[in-house]
Amino acid sequence: MISKWRLPLALTLLACVLVFKLGSWSLPFSPSDEQEWLDENRVTLNVSLPENEEETVLIQPATLAQDSIAHANEWQSFIIKAGDNLALYFQQAGLDSKALQEVLSIGRDAHYLKRIYPGQTLRFQANSTGQLQAFQLDIDPLTTFAVQRQDNGKLISHIEEKPIEKRVAFGGGKILDSFFVAGKNANLDDALIMELAQVFAYDIDFALDIQPNDYFKVLFEEYYVNGVKVGNGPIVAAEFVNSGKHYQAIRYTDSVGQASYYSPTGRSLKKAFIRTPVQYTRISSHFNLHRHHPVLHKIRAHRGVDYAAPTGTPVKAAGSGKVVFVGKKGGYGNAIILQHGARYKTLYGHLSRFAKSLKNGTAVRQGQIIGYVGSTGLASGPHLHFEFQVDGVHHNPLTVALPQAEEISGRTKSHFLAHANDLLQLMSKQERVFLAANEI
Ligand SMILES: [Zn+2]
Repeated sequence: MISKWRLPLALTLLACVLVFKLGSWSLPFSPSDEQEWLDENRVTLNVSLPENEEETVLIQPATLAQDSIAHANEWQSFIIKAGDNLALYFQQAGLDSKALQEVLSIGRDAHYLKRIYPGQTLRFQANSTGQLQAFQLDIDPLTTFAVQRQDNGKLISHIEEKPIEKRVAFGGGKILDSFFVAGKNANLDDALIMELAQVFAYDIDFALDIQPNDYFKVLFEEYYVNGVKVGNGPIVAAEFVNSGKHYQAIRYTDSVGQASYYSPTGRSLKKAFIRTPVQYTRISSHFNLHRHHPVLHKIRAHRGVDYAAPTGTPVKAAGSGKVVFVGKKGGYGNAIILQHGARYKTLYGHLSRFAKSLKNGTAVRQGQIIGYVGSTGLASGPHLHFEFQVDGVHHNPLTVALPQAEEISGRTKSHFLAHANDLLQLMSKQERVFLAANEI
């Protein structure tokens, strides 16, 4: 069985600065595919890089200031070291404190200079008299704070955003023991592995359902600046085969700009309910209308599922809705009842405590933490008792047909179907290239 895997929080783009070394699992994209992809997805920010970037000379801060006079009108570049301040680099570049003051008083953008960080790059350009002509600070791989002296002698600043080029990469693998390890072997970073699990979370329980020989394929975006990878974008298409059952996902942005994942026929992969509202260790009692009650020692219908989990494990709202009960409720102990639209209700029992500020009438979103596992009321150990009602009738939460959240319809449908078809073809083409390259 696959053990639970823990993942760090999704990385920010900035944290992805370290260039990812592409291994054998990440395939080169064929030029024609790439061109097509770029034509559709290119992000053009219409900003160019400094023209004399190529001529940049790298001078370590230890270099004597006099050396820089020999480099009039050339760029001098410094990589900021821990503990150093801006004045030191101005000095190293052969500039006086007046130049620093001039840059610091440039206006609103000067706040970028208040805090400089190790690893950021500074560039200076001075004329033959040693007067500062231009100054640049790379705030992050995509953003540069740039100062330029004008003909009237004044310095002005602007922020340059480097154009990001999007490419599509393929990753795929068979799961031998752990989904997380297989994801790593497929060159997916932590954030992509987590995203892949989330894409299929409504159909596959990644803590319990994963089997050896399950496999996955992923097409995801990569961001490049000047040919250097600076981070990953979202998954654009994916396939997961779990116990022989195929699941496919296509990312699609709807008319209001909301991106989500759909089956190739346009059904949303999201459902109106999460089937399992808690991360549990085992199911300690199933839905059973003729159960022998472990505490009362008599036959009593068990109208829900018991998920054993440590006290304090967060319990999530199975669907969006509103709180219609929160408090003590007989044998249920601390309980919450949520109403979802006109037909559905869910109940959460034996909680140790409720989420703060939860009260009758509070609106909750699907997945929001509403309480914590406990053993209040008639409970033999810490677990969540979860009930699911449709039109006032209890259903087995593990097997009840969950209503679909949404579906692509109308005029966007044909556009979506063509888009889905293109992505699936691209994914299988990439997979063939991969299999050939690895002689599998
Ligand atoms: Zn129960």
